[in-house]
Amino acid sequence: MSAGSHRLGVIGDPVEHSLSPRMHAAGFAALGIEAEYVTMRVPAAEGASVEAAMRDLAATGGGNVTLPHKGRAALALDEMTDAVRQIGACNCFWETDAGALAGDNTDVTGIAGVLEDLLDGREPGEVLVLGAGGAAAAAAVAAGRLGALTVRIANRTPVRAARLAARLRKQGLDARPEPWPAAGTCDVVVNATSLGLAENDPPPASFDRVKARLALDLVYTPASDERPPDHDAGGTRWTRAANARGIRATDGLEVLVLQGAACYPRWFGVEAPVEALRRAVVSGKT
Ligand code: NAP
Repeated sequence: MSAGSHRLGVIGDPVEHSLSPRMHAAGFAALGIEAEYVTMRVPAAEGASVEAAMRDLAATGGGNVTLPHKGRAALALDEMTDAVRQIGACNCFWETDAGALAGDNTDVTGIAGVLEDLLDGREPGEVLVLGAGGAAAAAAVAAGRLGALTVRIANRTPVRAARLAARLRKQGLDARPEPWPAAGTCDVVVNATSLGLAENDPPPASFDRVKARLALDLVYTPASDERPPDHDAGGTRWTRAANARGIRATDGLEVLVLQGAACYPRWFGVEAPVEALRRAVVSGKT
């Protein structure tokens, strides 16, 4: 494949507002790689076409998968990393030299990187994960990799929390389901629900009920030119509520950057220009 023929992209629905095209355009430019990164909308009802879309993009460079297709993407793979096997979801794919469709879950890499930074050399101890979808599974696996003693999972639909905890226990993690809304004391609390995306969402957990040292909100603030007035102070409403209580907290923007960066060795065999990716999503300028 010649450099000019690289065509990568993100498959999902919705994908129109994804920051990935802007972020990766900046990354490709910084590396001098001639490539385009497109959005490919595949509606939930047309999930059967996800594999064909992945194989098309894999042949021209690789890509990403986002909601609602990460689970289906995992099933389409010929080869997968441990992270995909553990979570049952794939967000990054490429073609191997032998022509196989291979995939990774770089949300785990991104979350682990940000948690490690938040922990600043300390042990994660007890981690409370809010949510039981793909991001919650990735957060739990990332916490386990960093040596969490216990991962508690609280979800609006309790049966999903119980199911995720059971799956994680089979992998050797001390994972337990918790009642919703979450309460109690923990070292780190992670918002892996979609609460916070919409302006009128309630907080995923109240810091009156959840006592934590550190908080990670996987929801991220959009780039500044698209930021609603409520986000102007930086972070999310929930991370600002945490900060107001003296809890060190960060939002999901750096997770987005690090999960994207982890794709470059897979796609191109090189390290990502992380600063260029970060600048593109923080400033909204490519
Ligand atoms: P998902 O599989 O659809 O899971 C959504 C979760 O949110 C479920 O646990 C769901 O609970 C919960 N939820 C939704 N609406 C709720 C409500 N009104 N009240 C309480 N809980 C509610 O999605 P996902 O892939 O795990 O993603 C979750 C979040 O993480 C999204 O905001 C996504 O943008 C973010 N994320 C960020 C990054 C990043 O790079 N920063 C990466 C991945 C994901 P039920 O089970 O009860 O429906």
